[in-house]
Amino acid sequence: MNIGIVGLPNVGKSTLFNAITKAGAESANYPFCTIEPNVGVVSVPDERLDVLEKMYNTKKKVYTAIEFYDIAGLVKGASKGEGLGNKFLSHIREVSSIVHVVRCFNDPNVVHVDGSVDPIRDIETINLELIFSDLEVLERRMEKTMKLVRSGDKKAKFEYDLMERIKAHLEANKPIRTLDVTEDEDEFIKTLFMITSKPVLYACNISEDDLMSGNLENDFVKKVKQYAAEEHSGTVVMCARLEEELSTLEDDEKKEMLEEYGLQETGLNKLIKASYELLGLISYLTAGVQEVRAWTIIKGTKAPQAAGKIHTDIERGFIRAEIIGYDDLVQCGSEAAAKEKGLYRLEGKEYVMQDGDVVNFRFNV
Ligand code: GDP
Repeated sequence: MNIGIVGLPNVGKSTLFNAITKAGAESANYPFCTIEPNVGVVSVPDERLDVLEKMYNTKKKVYTAIEFYDIAGLVKGASKGEGLGNKFLSHIREVSSIVHVVRCFNDPNVVHVDGSVDPIRDIETINLELIFSDLEVLERRMEKTMKLVRSGDKKAKFEYDLMERIKAHLEANKPIRTLDVTEDEDEFIKTLFMITSKPVLYACNISEDDLMSGNLENDFVKKVKQYAAEEHSGTVVMCARLEEELSTLEDDEKKEMLEEYGLQETGLNKLIKASYELLGLISYLTAGVQEVRAWTIIKGTKAPQAAGKIHTDIERGFIRAEIIGYDDLVQCGSEAAAKEKGLYRLEGKEYVMQDGDVVNFRFNV
């Protein structure tokens, strides 16, 4: 699972990405500073592992992780090859979702590529490039499909008709994620690798001052939130600069600094959690004396396939899953106590895994 970070130059992408990797990408006050898409891996924060660690007296704690790709270089005209446009667009095609960083801070020292701070104009500039790029890819696919339609292929006809609808939608400057489709249609759309069908999270980058004074909903942010709501996308508010600073601190110093700003958690954690949710992901947990660990699955995954995340052998030889819900386990205080209360469940092949299931899989070898 990976997430691409996009946005106009000078909005704070590299700063945020630095916070993610704690090193690496150049942060410079001019466009095109980072050329290769950089990859940063972060663990998904999960307080439940801390609790289980104590309960099971474990030394090892393994978080699940997500990857962020820093996709710099998107500018106006990118779809026509401006900047290093097309190369970046092909990188975005490969990610599962998008974090779109939007400048919501005033700072005379930081030049804006279009001369003023205007988050909606910025968002639309980027979104339009992504729409153009999708149109180009779509049209090529339609040409190929047309040949099959002419030969009387019924499936091709269904696909072509849908692509015509998508094309009209894109031509009205709307991203594919706002098109109403059935489940079958959605399955086909996934095979097109369209950028604008991917889920988007708008990351509003605000100033340290606004953050410090608790002004998380400045006028820029309000506009972005409204825009995002209209297209059913998510938003997160953060200050990239503070995140960069926080990322270099030890845990206790970090806590102190967050308190100073009156914050519960880092913006990065909020971003990671929101991305996880956006992608429809949940975690199940395994716990024992050796290690406690979180595993990522897509909502709706059944027990055997979830087991397959640990090892394909467990999926193949799946017998049953022994499960205690995380909350039940914590309330009872131990596995043994949960068993006594009858909260230890045996589930079969058709069981749909729930977030926070603490699991022990039984399988034939
Ligand atoms: P990118 O081109 O989108 O990767 O932008 P950068 O991360 O390189 O940031 C461009 C400039 O904006 C740098 O000088 C950053 O220090 C500055 N910047 C980034 N985030 C913030 C912020 O939250 N507040 C302020 N004041 N400046 C920021």
